[in-house]
Amino acid sequence: MDTPLTPPIPFDNSYARLPERFFSCVNPTPVAAPQLIRVNETLARELGIDPNALASPDGVAMLAGNRIAEGSHPIAMAYAGHQFGNFTPQLGDGRAILIGEVVDTHGIRRDIHLKGAGRTPYSRMGDGRAALGPVLREYIVSEAFAALGIPTTRALAAVTTGDWVLREEPLPGAILARVASSHIRVGTFQFFAARKDTDAVRTLADYTIARHYPEIKDGPDKYRDFLSAVIARQGELIAKWMYVGFIHGVMNTDNCSIAGETIDFGPCAFMDTYHPSTVFSSIDQGGRYAFSNQPVIANWNLVRFAETLLPILGETQEEAIAAAQERIDAYPAVFQTAITDGYAAKLGIDNKTADDTALIQDFLTVMANGGADYTLSFRTLSDAAEDPAHDEKLRALFADATVLEDWLQRWRQRLAQDPRAPRNIAAAMRAVNPVIIPRNHQVEAAIKAAVGSGDFAPFHRLVDELAKPFDDRPGIDDLKLPPKPDEIVRATFCGT
Ligand code: AMP
Ligand code: MG
Repeated sequence: MDTPLTPPIPFDNSYARLPERFFSCVNPTPVAAPQLIRVNETLARELGIDPNALASPDGVAMLAGNRIAEGSHPIAMAYAGHQFGNFTPQLGDGRAILIGEVVDTHGIRRDIHLKGAGRTPYSRMGDGRAALGPVLREYIVSEAFAALGIPTTRALAAVTTGDWVLREEPLPGAILARVASSHIRVGTFQFFAARKDTDAVRTLADYTIARHYPEIKDGPDKYRDFLSAVIARQGELIAKWMYVGFIHGVMNTDNCSIAGETIDFGPCAFMDTYHPSTVFSSIDQGGRYAFSNQPVIANWNLVRFAETLLPILGETQEEAIAAAQERIDAYPAVFQTAITDGYAAKLGIDNKTADDTALIQDFLTVMANGGADYTLSFRTLSDAAEDPAHDEKLRALFADATVLEDWLQRWRQRLAQDPRAPRNIAAAMRAVNPVIIPRNHQVEAAIKAAVGSGDFAPFHRLVDELAKPFDDRPGIDDLKLPPKPDEIVRATFCGT
């Protein structure tokens, strides 16, 4: 059933040309009555796809899995993974189907996945479907991430299916068209390593290097360089999550992208009040994926990744282990540099020195002790950098502002060493301290309106406004606000 879209999507499916054991060929399962929720027009154009074609009846049918577009080669990718520390040798795309790849207008190859497209050979007990709420959450948060400048998978479109999915209760079904620079995960490497399939590990490494790290592909140490490159991107990614108070919630190795993008927005959440041990996910009882534990878990996941590469990292096992260890040992410094650089920028510090680390750490401590809102504290600090008259606004964010006074003085002394005008320091700070983020209670309210009353206006508004997270402007005052006590979201659920 090859139906050409007009104009057709220029698919070029390189992963489907890899050996057969890398995936299963499987078509999406048709749904009852697909309806378009939203097309991401900017992203569609970036991919060389006409947004009007996507929004046409044929396009919507393709997005729902009811038609296979010309050039599409639907596959479910094989992968394994450590989930909460326990290894499962076979997970795979159980409710997502890669319909094909396109090379975008910047020359970057991107995957188009349909998440919620029906059962695959990897579905195990699952129904292969996604409920509307999680699809909207992923749309909102992944697009907000892109606007915040954080590497992420993207949302190309979302449709409702007209079918019900059974979770704790029947919920409307939906499908997200997700775009990623690839869906290769630590778990993809683990799938082959667990089978002692070294040829496949090498093939996958070569493919991944050519696709994501082409600059190292001709070097004499390419697999070792590959490990270093993945470590660097992962460290930088986690640092970027920390700047915005993001908690991923399920940092399993199957949710750890080799390209260094944020993937899988399940029970994820942004912190309102800052506390380093914050956890939202209802399934994360031990706090394994708590806010401040994320850098440690990324390190753990990278060790699992390094293990998969051991057969191709050296002539002997000893040599391979030594090479892997040396690179893994570099991770803490990579992460520390990224995190302190980012926090320094958030505090308006231009030429960071070793002394600034304490100033950064102390602000975090002051926020935690004062029960302050993370996003508003940094943003208001940007105003205070311009004019101390705003200090009052900052104090008002703290349940106990006495903890702030000493720190404020030290920070002012530090900024006084900066030759830039206060106005310019403040402008630089506002460019890295968002004024709005996808706050949980607002995301929940948008989901509730859509799922409960078919009202998608709050969803569209959130997506539209979060596209400009750094610009303060009229009309977004309500989106800046932390939740009122009765609006606080204390737990998030996978719900998929
Ligand atoms: P996740 O928690 O989304 O990272 O998914 C972990 C694994 O469970 C992956 O292999 C998914 O494909 C699979 N999975 C999650 N939800 C479903 C579902 N509704 N049907 C089939 N497989 C699923
Ligand atoms: Mg996943």
